[in-house]
Amino acid sequence: MRDKIIAGNWKMNTTVDDAVKLATEIKARLTGFKDAILLICPPDVNLYPVQKIIEKSVIKLGAQNMHYEKSGAYTGETSGEMLKSIGCDYVIVGHSERRAMFGDTDVVVRKKLQAIIEHDLIPILCIGEQLEDREAGKTEKVIDSQLNAALKDVPTDWMEKIVIAYEPVWAIGTGKTASPGQAQEVHKFIREKIGREYNPNLAEETTILYGGSVKPDNSDALFAEKDIDGFLIGGASLKADSFEQIARSASS
Ligand code: PEP
Repeated sequence: MRDKIIAGNWKMNTTVDDAVKLATEIKARLTGFKDAILLICPPDVNLYPVQKIIEKSVIKLGAQNMHYEKSGAYTGETSGEMLKSIGCDYVIVGHSERRAMFGDTDVVVRKKLQAIIEHDLIPILCIGEQLEDREAGKTEKVIDSQLNAALKDVPTDWMEKIVIAYEPVWAIGTGKTASPGQAQEVHKFIREKIGREYNPNLAEETTILYGGSVKPDNSDALFAEKDIDGFLIGGASLKADSFEQIARSASS
C-alpha cells in the first residue's frame, strides 16, 4: 500500500512564535492521527523550533529547499547534512515558485533530487504545467518533459523513495483548483509513465500528491480520486483548523 501524505508548505510565512504556535495547535488537533503521514514544511529558520514541538508526535518535518553541494561557500544556502542533523525527513524540490523565481532549472532540480536521496531524505518532486500549456493541450507533454529531466538516470532504488507532487501552476495560490477529474487524469498519466519506465509495481507504490488551492471544501472530492494520494498544501496549511480538516479527508 502506498503512503498517503498530507503536507503543509508554509512558504515564507511565520515568525518563530507563529511557527511554534501553529505546530503546537496542529499537533494537538491531530494527536494519534494514523490515516496519512502528516508533514509540515516551515521556513528554514523555523525548522529547529518546530522540530522541538513535533519530535515525539505523528507529525514529520520537511524543508522547502536544499542545496545540492555538501558544504562550502554557498551564502544563504542549506545543506542536506544540516537538514538531517535537525531531524528533517522530507525536502520539497522543483516547486514552481523556485523554478520561476530562484533559478531552479531542470538541471538544478535533478542535482538537488540526487543530493536529497544521497542524504537519506525523501524528495517531494513538484511538477506542473502553466495555464497556457493547459489551454494549448500541452499538459501531458510538459509533465512528461519535467519528469524526464528530473528523473534522468534515476535508478529504481531511488525511485522507490521519491514522492511526486502534481501542482498545476495556474492553481497555486490562485484559489483555482483543478477539478478532481482534471487532477486524476494527470496523476494517472504520471503513474502509467512510471509503470512503463520502471515497473508496474513501483508505479502502484509511488505516492502522487496534488497541490494547488486545496481547501477543506474541495479536499474530499480530490482525495476520492483513485490516483490522488494526498496533498501539498500552501495557504490552507497556515491555519491549524483547515490543515486538520484537509487531513481528515484521508480518513474517509
Ligand atoms: C503550494 O505552495 O505548493 C501550493 C499548492 O499552494 P496553495 O495551496 O496556496 O495553492
